[in-house]
Amino acid sequence: MKVYKFGGASVKNADAFRNLAQIVQNHGGSRQLLIVVSAMGKTTNALEHVFNTAYAQQDYNQALQESQDYHQETVQALFPDASHPVYEELEHLFSKLDATLQNLNRQTNYDQLYDQVVSFGELLASTILHHFLQLQHLTNTFIDSRKYIQTDTTWREAKIDWDWTERLIKRDLPAILEQQLIVTQGFLGGTNNGLTTTLGREGSDFSAAIFAYCLHADAMYIWKDVEGLLNADPKYFSDTVRYAEISYQETVEMAYYGASVIHPKTIKPLANRLIPLYVKSFLNPTGEGTKICDCRYQKLAPAYIIKENQCLISFSAKDFTFISEKNLGTIFNALSELRLKINLMQNSAISFSICTDCNEERLQKLLKTLQDQFVIHYNTGLILYTIKNYDTESINKVVANKEVLLEQRTRTTFQFVCK
Ligand code: ASP
Ligand code: MG
Repeated sequence: MKVYKFGGASVKNADAFRNLAQIVQNHGGSRQLLIVVSAMGKTTNALEHVFNTAYAQQDYNQALQESQDYHQETVQALFPDASHPVYEELEHLFSKLDATLQNLNRQTNYDQLYDQVVSFGELLASTILHHFLQLQHLTNTFIDSRKYIQTDTTWREAKIDWDWTERLIKRDLPAILEQQLIVTQGFLGGTNNGLTTTLGREGSDFSAAIFAYCLHADAMYIWKDVEGLLNADPKYFSDTVRYAEISYQETVEMAYYGASVIHPKTIKPLANRLIPLYVKSFLNPTGEGTKICDCRYQKLAPAYIIKENQCLISFSAKDFTFISEKNLGTIFNALSELRLKINLMQNSAISFSICTDCNEERLQKLLKTLQDQFVIHYNTGLILYTIKNYDTESINKVVANKEVLLEQRTRTTFQFVCK
């Protein structure tokens, strides 16, 4: 059996849904395929905005209406029969979403409320996809992934209860897959008391890998709008190279450094069961794409990874003493409490510097927590460059004309932070 993951771009409008159905058709036969789908287009961003507006107790109706219109238009283009049940289901989901927004209990944790709202994007897309594939005679069962992917309550970044999840998936899904397709949501999980969690932005890849792992899939496919795994983001580099084959290890490292191709948590479950991952273009489904597997090779083209919106923070002790392990412990604790991730760090005699993703709210909290103990300087709006498998040429190519604030290199990886 196989798992296909379709991201937002592959369901961004009616034509995209039609194209997707064609890819599923070509899979051959309508069984032994589980389809994981993300929210349509930029819906998750739109719902984040709706949520923040509602949370700030401002009028969110227009923003919500825009999202509803977007889904409604797509459905109208796909289902000519106005009495099709999909219309009612959509209506129902939007009124549930509206009720959730109206009843936000602001005593409850912000991140918890976020999950209850933003998760609607995937519920909507999967509902439309379920019905549309049915219409194309691709018989499928709609599965609510929140009933299978069991998590703790780390809202917005929920941790998987693997044993429980695997047991539930194995109990129900193989029998269905014997007969037909399954359509389910990416990004979502559920807690044991029925609340919705999310697995982190772009987390649908990870969802697909969880299903692939639990079902011992023969392969997982991620369908994207690029030809496969590229050595750089075409947004920033004109001369990108596609990797035909690349190892799990290499891909994990690239994801870790911020390559946005695949969610970082996706690879491990697949590698554990040696399930190959194909990254292919939904615009050119017969193209070769990239195969990620347990493979070896001599030399790989350097990979260029860019992380924008970085913040460089440096800490020094107030009394000009050296930064001790005890100081580091205090700093790490504060970072961990605030879930600020270190992308790069460097220690010198009297100061310790870290580069993290910029999050103004968490940054202010960090300053508040630590400013009694340290002198803290920070710079925002920076870029972190990483070159994996670098050589002199690749370094020259990116460093030229940049003001480098911090630089670090290992045998295989060159990183620097600049303005
Ligand atoms: N829709 C979610 C997001 O945009 C999950 C995903 O796309 O993988 O973050
Ligand atoms: Mg998305």
